[in-house]
Amino acid sequence: MLFNSIIPFAEPITTTENDRSFFDPSYTTTSLTANKPSDSVSHKNRSQGATGSPLSSECEVWTKACSEAVLGLAKRPENVKWLKSLRRKIHANPELAFEEFETSKLIRHELDRMEVMYKYPLAKTGLRAWIGTGSAPFVAIRADMDALPIQEAVEWEHKSKVAGKMHACGHDAHVAMLIGAAKILKSREHLLKGTVILLFQPAEEAGNGAKRMIGDGALENVEAIFAVHVSHEHPTAIIGSRPGPLLAGCGFFRAVISGKRGPAGNPHHSVDPILAASAAVISLQGIVSREANPLDSQVVSVTSFNGGNNLDMIPDTVVLGGTFRAFSNTSFYQLLQRIEEVIVEQASVYRCSAMVDFFEKENTIYPPTVNDEKMYEHVRKVAIDLVGPTNFRVVPPMMGAEDFSFYSEVVPAGFFYIGIRNETLGSTHTGHSPFFMIDEDVLPIGAAAHASIAERYLIEQG
Ligand SMILES: [Zn+2]
Ligand SMILES: [Zn+2]
Repeated sequence: MLFNSIIPFAEPITTTENDRSFFDPSYTTTSLTANKPSDSVSHKNRSQGATGSPLSSECEVWTKACSEAVLGLAKRPENVKWLKSLRRKIHANPELAFEEFETSKLIRHELDRMEVMYKYPLAKTGLRAWIGTGSAPFVAIRADMDALPIQEAVEWEHKSKVAGKMHACGHDAHVAMLIGAAKILKSREHLLKGTVILLFQPAEEAGNGAKRMIGDGALENVEAIFAVHVSHEHPTAIIGSRPGPLLAGCGFFRAVISGKRGPAGNPHHSVDPILAASAAVISLQGIVSREANPLDSQVVSVTSFNGGNNLDMIPDTVVLGGTFRAFSNTSFYQLLQRIEEVIVEQASVYRCSAMVDFFEKENTIYPPTVNDEKMYEHVRKVAIDLVGPTNFRVVPPMMGAEDFSFYSEVVPAGFFYIGIRNETLGSTHTGHSPFFMIDEDVLPIGAAAHASIAERYLIEQG
């Protein structure tokens, strides 16, 4: 996810608390099935299903018992230990956008062990796995794999081994949760009423990985898609979402306004781009204030303005730029169109020309992430069954952006948050902070949420 501000929190982290929390006795003591190789666990799951899980016929209709069976499987001590170890391996070896080769290899290794089929590569390092009947309906669940160019400031045993790179947005947890979901779904494959597609995508933070995944066939046959993001704003395992617009669309622009260089003392020999650009900046303010519905939040900010370096000379060109945000596709693309029109037209008023670049080729445009009402309702129902009604929250929209939006433009989508905030551990820092950390107890809940959303979708929505 792209946050508005990347402001590191100043307060210190208590290292001892972190260390203690990551070696929580609940998974390091006798409750573990000690030394059992994961392979045998996976085979056991495949053949027997979860302990206490309903019979196949009982999940013809989704009941609370089905949710409990999925959660019970996710929370088996050996599975929790395995999920944490996966997340720690990925955390210690962060890879940036489109460089997630080792992360991708680890995922494939785990899928191979579970005998889950997949197509690789999509979007360079990504993959598309599938579990179920192989026929319609198809429902997708997605995780992003990339880390950030940030130096980790948390001191703990599994700290990033790569200088200047860190999983500071929780994508390591997202990957672990989706692998966990794969294991649960594989063990319940005989119950699936269609096919679950698992998408592991590169480059969420930069490079529009989702867009390339779609281009490489990620959404082939897919009729709905879901994804989760960890959130430091909610206590561990609280699930939150909202119908409709959830995250803003985010774009950047850079305009070159060209006139004719000339002496400032005889301005009539020049065509002044400074005046034209200034008029454009003023007019840009009118787009949101005069053209947008005041109840539909939008932003246009000019953040740079450069031209000339000689106090006695009118320059040839002025370069200005900025960013824009909106919560609906209509408003977002309307802003994009109007920014270009206003700059070009204002330049022409002053006899200048203008070129506006929205960096489409550099993939810095993120459309708004909009939750389909039905998909939101599906997430809400699953979450309430899984974590209880008091642990589901309707959350407000945020100005951050997410490239999950590219999927949500193509098929009905449901994006939700899962809390990782634990004051005792110190997992209270915002994403993109060098102090960012998660409460790993979220991993089995996230895996169960993914699996339940997918399995239940095929029963009820497919
Ligand atoms: Zn992020
Ligand atoms: Zn993120």
